[in-house]
Amino acid sequence: MNGASRPPLQLSDPALLSTRAFVGGEWIDADDGGSCEVTNPATGAVLGTIPDMVAAETARAIDAAHAAFPAWSRTTAGERATLVKRLHDLLLEHQDDLARLMTAEQGKPLAEAKGEIAYAASYLEWFAEEARRMYGDTIPGHAADKRIMVLRQPVGVVAMITPWNFPSAMLARKIAPALAAGCTVVAKPATQTPYSALALAVLAERAGLPAGVLNIVTGRDARAIGGELTGNPKVRKLSFTGSTGVGKTLMEQCAGTMKRISMELGGNAPFIVFDDADLDAAVDGAIASKYRNTGQTCVCANRLFVHEAVYDAFADKLAAAVAKLRVGDGLAGATDQGPLIDAKALEKVEEHVADAVAKGARVAAGGKRHALGGTFYEPTLLLDANADMLLANEETFGPVAPLFRFSSEDEVLALANDTEVGLAGYFYTRDLARAFRVAEALECGIVGVNTGLVSTAVAPFGGIKESGTGREGSKYGLDDYTELKYVCIGGI
Ligand code: NAP
Repeated sequence: MNGASRPPLQLSDPALLSTRAFVGGEWIDADDGGSCEVTNPATGAVLGTIPDMVAAETARAIDAAHAAFPAWSRTTAGERATLVKRLHDLLLEHQDDLARLMTAEQGKPLAEAKGEIAYAASYLEWFAEEARRMYGDTIPGHAADKRIMVLRQPVGVVAMITPWNFPSAMLARKIAPALAAGCTVVAKPATQTPYSALALAVLAERAGLPAGVLNIVTGRDARAIGGELTGNPKVRKLSFTGSTGVGKTLMEQCAGTMKRISMELGGNAPFIVFDDADLDAAVDGAIASKYRNTGQTCVCANRLFVHEAVYDAFADKLAAAVAKLRVGDGLAGATDQGPLIDAKALEKVEEHVADAVAKGARVAAGGKRHALGGTFYEPTLLLDANADMLLANEETFGPVAPLFRFSSEDEVLALANDTEVGLAGYFYTRDLARAFRVAEALECGIVGVNTGLVSTAVAPFGGIKESGTGREGSKYGLDDYTELKYVCIGGI
């Protein structure tokens, strides 16, 4: 039984919506019975509750993961691959329900939610395959009577903290390599979007994952749960996706027990349109990169730099494309843009737009709250943006595209790199030499050349500078969940 009361959302498999947390293979409530509500950002309707857990329950989840680790780490790569692949299959089998659940708690259009479930599943498939390739090494020795081996071993219990903007994929991206490597997991999803994570646990249980290998704790006191996850010596690694500020705090907290860390943090992505670009392709890329998920993605284009020779033409085309975006409740019909996650997010977008307008920006589209009310905001295009504006220096995390003007490659590279973060960057050009030069010069972990969509399980995702450390996905992704052990065999 994974839910005390059944919330109103219609699912063909209602058991996917769990209102309890998952610890040691049991579906449990908070010790004191406390709970918090989860609401639909499009309607404000309460979807249900989750246990409001604190440090004590988190410690027990860590104990469960710690107890499960020896047996799980000794399974063969093939056994782990089979289980992780089964979880992948179950995600796809329940894609429609999982997408409805996600749209209900997160607000994104249903088509985007379905896409996210497929994207989450792709990490499970990829790492199910990679599990079998967790090779070690032998090294030519330094003495005639010695041999050197390098083993790759799972790091141990991994704590995970994930954000609300991609409630399924951000967790799958961590769970998949962790389970494949032989680690056990205690995860805390964002309080606004816990049901997608709990549904993953429902499916993991059905896939046959042993008790304690995957544990999900929920609760609104993120500091208390995070304090236990980062302070408890049984946890050997923390993988966090979220804001840079919280990432820094968690990194400090991990220092006390010298945990390994992976940090996938915020960005401030430049999107550059050179004068030789295919402008129609650049507009498509800007729409995909800027307005997907209502502009609430870490790799969102945040600053659009357009060469002065094509500035007006690009602005006109982008304004026409922005005008076509359909805004609405993702469960009520076909839409391109849902609500912002909450009132605080709406206020930040309003603040950024007001600040930009006060400093000289012109509104070419949108620019205010949407007539639908709630946290809906109009898809917005601002012209004549400059470096003094708030939106040049912080993630807006909303559907606002500010267009900056530039006149040379050197100038735009200096502007693009003038930020302390470095996650994604994009540019459009038809000049091959420039494509190499600019890709190499951009200070970020991910570069899209003539494309606004870059995420895939087969490539390493992650940032440099204050955007974090570590990479998720790809052949490098297992490295973050394994330790190298050097074994020296003497007397040969
Ligand atoms: P956030 O405020 O940092 O929250 C992320 C997670 O951390 C949530 O689960 C939150 O719990 C938890 N948390 C907050 N304060 C904590 C604390 N003191 N100790 C322990 N846990 C704590 O970020 P967000 O606003 O949800 O997400 C947006 C940010 O994530 C953006 O900056 C975005 O760029 C970044 N992001 C990065 C990537 C990437 O891969 N680089 C991907 C997606 C998003 P509660 O929900 O309970 O508050």
